[in-house]
Amino acid sequence: MNVLVLNCGSSSVKFQVVQTDLDLISKDADKRLASGVIERVGSESLIAFSAEGRPKFRTAEPLRDHRAALDRILRWVVAKDSGVPEVSSLSDIHAVGHRVVHGGEKFTMGVLIDDAVVDGIEDTIELAPLHNPANLKGIMAARELLGPGVPQVAVFDTAFHSTMPETAYLYALPYQLYRRYKLRRYGFHGTSFRYLAYRYRLMTGKKPKDVNIVALHLGNGASACAIKGGESVDTSMGMTPLEGLVMGTRGGDMDPAVAEFLHHREGMSFEQVDTLLNKQSGLLGISGLTNDMRELLEEEKENGDRRARLAIDIFCARVRKYIGAYLAQMGGADAVVFTGGIGENSAEVRARVCKGLEWMGLTLDAARNKAAVGGKDAEVSSAASRLKAFVIATNEELLIARDAVRIIKGAPRRW
Ligand code: ADP
Repeated sequence: MNVLVLNCGSSSVKFQVVQTDLDLISKDADKRLASGVIERVGSESLIAFSAEGRPKFRTAEPLRDHRAALDRILRWVVAKDSGVPEVSSLSDIHAVGHRVVHGGEKFTMGVLIDDAVVDGIEDTIELAPLHNPANLKGIMAARELLGPGVPQVAVFDTAFHSTMPETAYLYALPYQLYRRYKLRRYGFHGTSFRYLAYRYRLMTGKKPKDVNIVALHLGNGASACAIKGGESVDTSMGMTPLEGLVMGTRGGDMDPAVAEFLHHREGMSFEQVDTLLNKQSGLLGISGLTNDMRELLEEEKENGDRRARLAIDIFCARVRKYIGAYLAQMGGADAVVFTGGIGENSAEVRARVCKGLEWMGLTLDAARNKAAVGGKDAEVSSAASRLKAFVIATNEELLIARDAVRIIKGAPRRW
């Protein structure tokens, strides 16, 4: 089956076309046929598409909304000169898999989308006001443009964390707030963590129940996950993605009284505080330069910029703190696994995160660590290291495509 995987953000649409099926999954032989992104949906949009193995097609065009963006994607995918293999008309798209950010407590696995599921996703808008409306727009647009005969599946970023115990997901707030609003930790990056657990299992030959790792998704958004017995038992993002690690523009953990202080001293409304915490903090806030880790590393190296160094150091210290906390919660683990744009590409950040962890048995192999960049999966700890370290390039789209096939064929799986 050719599955169109869609990831709709508030002003962007990312996609992949993945050829997969139950037999291809069992052989780990699925094929990506095309991928692309449209940014700045709603104004002069930036388009970058590519068929597998072909150079990128780039252009800019005004695209009014998500429907117009999806229409543009579909027209490109089926056009002869795009060079997408195996797809020459819309009937060659057999299913759609959507990344949906928030599934609340209702969705603990991917589901086939029908009207009741759409209602369920609408019900979680209160918990994810920025993300879920965009996901719904993508679902509606796909229904309209591909017709009701093409099955659509929703895969939730929160679902993998539905196994967390109450001790991890409840906030120590008055309990009735949880009862009334389902106010609790949900966690995100779930599909990425599930992929890491799966790939780690293939790399080490372990069974799902023997996967005990601290997984670190370090990108512009960043979170940590304690995976014990193959299941998420704790994660650093919370009711929203704001909690936990330091991120590109999000501050992560801090005293909630900061919000009140800013309200009084700076006269900020709660919306303004929310914007400050989500968009102006983190690496950008500390450095005053950029949210981009690669630029900060360059700035530190070339100009010795003090605040660039501070931003990187605070980022790494927070990650290290979570590794320690999760190892304590889990009663130890077998490996720490890095992924995301920073985790997959920056040997420097990995080395700085792991520095000083030798006492608990984690020693990186400098040469292996340096070589593990650019999407390569590798073990990066030394042979003697008791706690191993791995780099695994995440592939959420692949899992979404596989989930779509499994659900459509009546063989859903958590793994
Ligand atoms: P998103 O959360 O938006 O998916 P990504 O996973 O693409 O983000 O990660 C983006 C981050 O990865 C940026 O901070 C970028 O600077 C960083 N990054 C990418 N390549 C490198 C590299 N070679 N060295 C350091 N950081 C890198």
